[in-house]
Amino acid sequence: MRKVLVLEDEENIRSFVVINLKRAGYETIEAATGEEALARIKEDPGIRVALLDIMLPGIDGFEVCRRIRAMDSKIGVIMLTARTQEMDKVTGLMTGADDYVTKPFSPAELTARVDALFRRTGGGEEEAASPDEISQPPFLLNTRNRTLEKNGQRVKLTQVEYGIVKLFMENPGKALSREEILDAVWGKDYFGELKIVDVNIRRLRIKIEDNPTKPTYVNTVWGYGYKWGS
Ligand code: CA
Repeated sequence: MRKVLVLEDEENIRSFVVINLKRAGYETIEAATGEEALARIKEDPGIRVALLDIMLPGIDGFEVCRRIRAMDSKIGVIMLTARTQEMDKVTGLMTGADDYVTKPFSPAELTARVDALFRRTGGGEEEAASPDEISQPPFLLNTRNRTLEKNGQRVKLTQVEYGIVKLFMENPGKALSREEILDAVWGKDYFGELKIVDVNIRRLRIKIEDNPTKPTYVNTVWGYGYKWGS
């Protein structure tokens, strides 16, 4: 069951998205307001990915994203942004979105992003040989439950943030380029911008660093990428 929630108040755009997702084999659930979208998500735990428009009559798409994250961090979230809303991309990712698609988008681009997010949030493709836990005090990563603890306290991560931490903890002390991180976490067929890596790292630091302005776990390698530990 591949269920996608489509939140969009403009009916033309919503049906365009729905038709194309159905054609790609997805089951769609439609919502015209943020309140309606949240109600659908609450009543249907089968929804795995949500597409959120930003400008809406009631609460906006950012607020919907925030509330989704407050109740379930496992749903993949893609923001639908207008080309003029450059800042919205960053704001959206900071509220917990996994990706964004800029309007107007082609059916191919949209389904590629949804496919990619489904693969990332999919589970089921766990590598048999990998251990269930990676312990690097103060962190403990459980790859079976896809959870992270810091000093025994659960850190709520999105699936993308989890993917980044897992990559780091599997490669301690190794400088990883932005491209490597993008390929490993988003997939080689992802055709977004490298900036999405930086935005997710910034958000991850807020969650796991003692002092996010002076990070000690996720270190910047200038002009290259990032490194876990020193
Ligand atoms: Ca709208």
